[in-house]
Amino acid sequence: MNEQTNEKVEFTDDDIIFECPFCSKSMAIDKRGMGLTINCPQCSGMVRVPTVSESTDSQPHSVNMPVDGLADALDESRDEIDDLKQKISSLESLREQLEVKSSAQDQKLTSLRREFGNIQSALDQIAMLMANDSANL
Ligand SMILES: [Zn+2]
Repeated sequence: MNEQTNEKVEFTDDDIIFECPFCSKSMAIDKRGMGLTINCPQCSGMVRVPTVSESTDSQPHSVNMPVDGLADALDESRDEIDDLKQKISSLESLREQLEVKSSAQDQKLTSLRREFGNIQSALDQIAMLMANDSANL
């Protein structure tokens, strides 16, 4: 069972396929030959082997399209970020207002406590005076 493998494709994925600019003969060369200058086997012209990036240059639009989409998406997310920033700043001003209110209430509470303390001590003094008076009677 010695099958002949002559009919296998002559080039592999590692080969670059390009045409001779002089005689348009299709040639395949190993990727390692990229950028080298070779002699065309048909017309003997000096042919520069294209690099892979040069040979895949043929679809610049399909590369640009997703970038445009990305820019749109970026703009949209920037809008969302701006919205969020506005919400955050309004929340922060609300929080500041609440803090001012609560600190004002704290001040009211302390002044009320002070007044209560004054009243308490005044009551104590009155009670002491009354006790003294009743003792003096
Ligand atoms: Zn040629």
